[in-house]
Amino acid sequence: MRDLSQKGTMAKGAKGKYCPRHRNFEAIGYCEQCHSPYCGDCAVEALNHTFCSKECANSYGKFMSRYKPTKKPGFFSKLMNLVVTVLVLAVIGFAAYLFLTRSKAGTRLREKLPAIRTK
Ligand SMILES: [Zn+2]
Ligand SMILES: [Zn+2]
Repeated sequence: MRDLSQKGTMAKGAKGKYCPRHRNFEAIGYCEQCHSPYCGDCAVEALNHTFCSKECANSYGKFMSRYKPTKKPGFFSKLMNLVVTVLVLAVIGFAAYLFLTRSKAGTRLREKLPAIRTK
């Protein structure tokens, strides 16, 4: 029973699988592009991912570059940056406004209090 449940948890790590190119090498992970297992010898690191071969890394890079130049994500990220900067500026401005009005009110009170007392 325990053995069965442990087999289910091996989905992410490629333990027990072997590299298709080096049948005696245990696979250390799955290729980001073709999802086949690769060994430490075959692993190619590129674009923050690991691939089974340079060909896969290249095709993944082409795949990514095809989707990167689309204008929508860029527009949205720019909009988000703008919204975030405006929000931050608004918060800073509001805090500054509160600080200024408070300190002004404070000084006004302090100025008025002795005037009232003397009268
Ligand atoms: Zn691959
Ligand atoms: Zn290999």
